[in-house]
Amino acid sequence: MNTNVNEYMGHPKGLFFLFFAELWERFSFYGMRALLVLYMTKQLLYDDTMSFGIYGAYMSLVYFTPIIGGVLADRYLGYRKSIVLGGIMMALGHFFLTIETPLFFFGSLSLIIIGNGFFKPNISTFVGRLYPENDVRRDSGFTIFYMGINIGGAVAPLLCAWLAESYGWHYGFLAAGLGMLLGLFYFNRGLNKGVFGDIGQIPNQQIYDKKFLGLNKGQLITMLSFLSVPLFALLVRFNEYEHYMVWIASFVIIAALVLIYTSVNKPFKSRLIVAAYFTILMSLFWAIFEQAGSSLTLFADRNVNLIGMNAAQTNSINSIYIILLAIPFSWMWNKLTQINRNPNSAIKSGLGLILLGLGFCIFAMSARSMDGLAQTSMSYLIIGYFILTVGELCISPIGLSKMTELSPVKYLAFIMGVFFTSSFYGHFFAGKIAKLTSVVEGQINPFSEGLLGAITKFVTGLSPTIGNEGEEAFRQLYSYVSVYAGFGAITILIGLLAILISPFIKKMMAGVH
Ligand code: GLN
Repeated sequence: MNTNVNEYMGHPKGLFFLFFAELWERFSFYGMRALLVLYMTKQLLYDDTMSFGIYGAYMSLVYFTPIIGGVLADRYLGYRKSIVLGGIMMALGHFFLTIETPLFFFGSLSLIIIGNGFFKPNISTFVGRLYPENDVRRDSGFTIFYMGINIGGAVAPLLCAWLAESYGWHYGFLAAGLGMLLGLFYFNRGLNKGVFGDIGQIPNQQIYDKKFLGLNKGQLITMLSFLSVPLFALLVRFNEYEHYMVWIASFVIIAALVLIYTSVNKPFKSRLIVAAYFTILMSLFWAIFEQAGSSLTLFADRNVNLIGMNAAQTNSINSIYIILLAIPFSWMWNKLTQINRNPNSAIKSGLGLILLGLGFCIFAMSARSMDGLAQTSMSYLIIGYFILTVGELCISPIGLSKMTELSPVKYLAFIMGVFFTSSFYGHFFAGKIAKLTSVVEGQINPFSEGLLGAITKFVTGLSPTIGNEGEEAFRQLYSYVSVYAGFGAITILIGLLAILISPFIKKMMAGVH
């Protein structure tokens, strides 16, 4: 163990304050998320289509705003002020959800969307800044941080759902809001104890102080953030127009990246391309992974013989695995570095995709165990989740860690925001993939034909005839497992390609591991 007083367990002390701040922030985020769809359908009495539309728009916008929060932190606010502003907005959002009118409902979601934009990218960038350049502990530090995320993500749905069920919705949302306040409290404690050194201060005091309409940049950005609440509220409410936003956002992001590309020097040019490449791989990862909250939950509900938990609770299996595996993984990355065997990040992201694909193929293979009612054995779900979680640990925390190395310091939080757009795109496409699993009367399942049909047959042992002519439950099962086998195979293939081209990517990373 390191004896340095500014270190704890071989990592900068600041990591542990950020760990708890993020743990509680994610507690509030995932606690509220677990209630959201049920609250809409049971309490506000919205129909399924409207509820899914609102949920999808909310989840994707939450991961769109980090790009704006990142730019504003890089240029004006610094990470510290951004995190505090974001935390306050998110806490307000959760508290206002306890007031049951459409105005407060959409306004609250909007507050959380904007708040997350300030909080999430900047706390992640902050972690990266705790480590000096080329510090080999960085990946392992992010893996520990990721564990905090998942402790919050695992506990909150259980607690908030229990509060909501036993005492009423308001108490569930209240607990989420209190969680966010605790997150802010831990962050503030870190600030007071001085464990962050001078990281995350305002980047340029002169620019910050320069008045516009009598307000400094902090006041101006705070005012504009609150003024934009109605805008995001309307986007969530009228989510049928969201795809226009995806196009506009993509255009703006690419234009900004091109602008940055032209302004930085050579090694950073190629590093920037690698950052974009990792973001694309990560988007693919989330598009498949995020079936967890949608089609995979329904699959568990309809076609898995669940023992000891209900379908909604299967969502916490992933977080529980992360909690169990994060420390061993963090330790393993450190040990592998010591013996010079730590695979580079380009290989790790390929591995992450392959494992995700394998996990989904195992979900598909469950069809081999089906009984007369098209119910499959739960063991496939448990093993599949294990494999894809190992994949997540190879790609997601490592991706966060790489962003903080690949980007020029000046654009760090913006590039982190770009990385989070992988979840924005991921959620957008995950919705489309989930739709492919619904059985539509008279429509042929595209995954039952040609090469994809052959893959399904190979993985699941099922022929489409069962799907087309069988009972409802069989057709539904075929629909799930064919989509999972098809996308599983595609993901494995892309992962293999990523490993194949990893030597080139490594070269382009210009010294970053
Ligand atoms: N579960 C991780 C988190 O909450 C990653 C989420 C995501 O980016 N989709 O931070």
